[in-house]
Amino acid sequence: MTYIQFLGAAGTVTGSKHLVNTGGFQVLVDCGLFQGQKEWRERNWEPPPIPAREIDAVVLTHAHLDHCGWIPRLVKAGFSGPIYATQPTIDLCGVLLPDSGHLQEEDAAYANKKKSSRHSPALPLYTEQEALDCLRYFQPIGVGEVKRLNPDFTFSFVRAAHILGSAMAEVTVRAGGGPHFLEYRTYRFRAHSMYDPELYRDKQEVEEWKKRDPIPNLIERLKQQNLWQEEELSRMEGEVAREIQQSVEFAEAGRWEPVEELTRFVYSEGSPAKTQSAQS
Ligand SMILES: [Zn+2]
Repeated sequence: MTYIQFLGAAGTVTGSKHLVNTGGFQVLVDCGLFQGQKEWRERNWEPPPIPAREIDAVVLTHAHLDHCGWIPRLVKAGFSGPIYATQPTIDLCGVLLPDSGHLQEEDAAYANKKKSSRHSPALPLYTEQEALDCLRYFQPIGVGEVKRLNPDFTFSFVRAAHILGSAMAEVTVRAGGGPHFLEYRTYRFRAHSMYDPELYRDKQEVEEWKKRDPIPNLIERLKQQNLWQEEELSRMEGEVAREIQQSVEFAEAGRWEPVEELTRFVYSEGSPAKTQSAQS
């Protein structure tokens, strides 16, 4: 039987994990961290509902941690298949995932120092080294390239804006004789609200959080170590701005489908096969 299981980003916007099962072949579309309130963050510690080693592949749409930040944990739980993403997404994950591991270690060390955790000792969800170790599973897929993972599961990336490297995954699964088309759509050209963290943190926490923002910190560190010159930084910022501009123009040139169209293949009274035969 073919089905999709929503393992995250349901009832909340973080923790994106969608398991597509085509009769035993199992692909996880995105593998994100739950972020925000504690009741959600605690879910990061739960094991996946199926053994991680039985997941055949991961398809990753973009490098935000709520979409990729659980990958080291999945690998820790036994996953060892390929992780498909665009090259810029892989490059970003190479920076963000080890940094996330580093922050997890810092949080655990802080909790141990302050004795603020009910666990003794408090442990990181994964370490910087564990995040580095999972990078070898990444495989680049070009936008528009059609990748067949098995006779029943094919996908390709469609360019999306949002952040550098973002893609929507168009997945075609074969179920009950006919192929079905799924589209995994991420934000189209919307950015995250800058105010998201302020909804669940007090003022002081927001200030602390800003000081720990990984991107300015990384830039600062690279400058201090003489690994990044000012002119190189402005060249890259220019490239990124152009890439974003192109992506936004591409997205804005597209049309918004009517809502009925969006949900036509998502909500179904019976099985997709029955719905199809009822239509024909
Ligand atoms: Zn995102």
